[in-house]
Amino acid sequence: MLNKKTVEDINVNGKKVLVRCDFNVPLNDKFEITDESRIEGALPTIKYLLKNNAKVILCSHLGRPKGEAKKEFSLAPVAKRLDEILDTKVIFAADDEVVGTNAKEATNNMENGEIVLLENTRYRKEEKKNGEEFAKELASLADIYVNDAFGTAHRAHASTEGITKFMDESVSGYLIQKEIRFLGNAVETPKRPFVAILGGAKVSDKIAVIENLLDKVDSILIGGGMAYTFLKAQGYTIGTSLVEEDRLDYALEMIEQAKVKNVNFVLPVDHIVGAEFSKDTEPIKTEDQNIKDGYMGLDIGPKTADLFKDIIKDAKTIIWNGPMGVFEFENFANGTISVASEMANTDAITIIGGGDSATAVNTLGFGDKMSHISTGGGASLVFLEGKELPGIMALDNK
Ligand code: AMP
Repeated sequence: MLNKKTVEDINVNGKKVLVRCDFNVPLNDKFEITDESRIEGALPTIKYLLKNNAKVILCSHLGRPKGEAKKEFSLAPVAKRLDEILDTKVIFAADDEVVGTNAKEATNNMENGEIVLLENTRYRKEEKKNGEEFAKELASLADIYVNDAFGTAHRAHASTEGITKFMDESVSGYLIQKEIRFLGNAVETPKRPFVAILGGAKVSDKIAVIENLLDKVDSILIGGGMAYTFLKAQGYTIGTSLVEEDRLDYALEMIEQAKVKNVNFVLPVDHIVGAEFSKDTEPIKTEDQNIKDGYMGLDIGPKTADLFKDIIKDAKTIIWNGPMGVFEFENFANGTISVASEMANTDAITIIGGGDSATAVNTLGFGDKMSHISTGGGASLVFLEGKELPGIMALDNK
């Protein structure tokens, strides 16, 4: 288990503290924020620092401006919203250079308990290249660095990893701590039975996750587009369903390994299929695992949903990543809804690994029924692969 210093382990009183947040919020065409959960996720750390008299400098990326200052990717809407939410005035350092004249001026003359938000770190090409110069410039603004951006912790960028080389103290914020606690405890010391539910489009995206989890879980339930590669590998017919032909051997190997490791590897036993990939295609239930020519599997069927329910009901720890079908189409959302509602109903530790499953759980209104919804889809997958996250590894140990 990672044992990284947190904001509570250091003295922040009167110090300039640069916090790397994840303010990568969705905006509409009027530049209004359409989902504030990432801003809310950053508040505990910001409030702690304000309460303890720090001078708080915030930074983040937003979208993909590709190393150029583009107005549509400005963090100005985030500054405005933060200013409304917090009792403290938020000064926005509008600065195309991110750390240019404006940012230096704004951060030079700060009082304790003040907040400055820098402009989008990805306005600078060096951000994604982990360029030393930009990392040094960012570091020069503050005495202490705090990383609280779990969503980008799997990337070694200038503001997530490079900067730590030029700071005396680099610690984690509350959001990263929470992610490490839930994901780390679940994977390292799970209450059993420990069940992983994996779905989504591709097997290839989840290979490393399956391999790592096979050593840890009691059951793996597979749904979504990735299930058909496993079914085809076993000789079932899959019609025109998604398949990765180059992963068929791998799929058999995984099923074999699951047997050796005594892991219950559960594939769909029926499906909801359609003639085409469209929201209007007629949903048809299959009798069993097989799918007829001309049809594609777009959701797990009701027998599979019941089978999954029974396993979820008895579990003590459940991790879910990836929808069970094309949940964006109403007719093919039932499998995903069923898993979400069963997870919401258990007393088990329930963890949603970000991305599409987090969207599904939140839009269905089950968000507050889960123990933890990760704020980083990509980062949580890397975590579940058992790999190190550079943005966390670079922080000081306790
Ligand atoms: P991922 O990003 O790999 O988690 O995949 C999520 C996407 O997989 C969602 O947009 C789903 O619509 C899609 N998906 C899930 N099940 C299927 C399926 N049976 N066929 C095609 N796409 C699917």
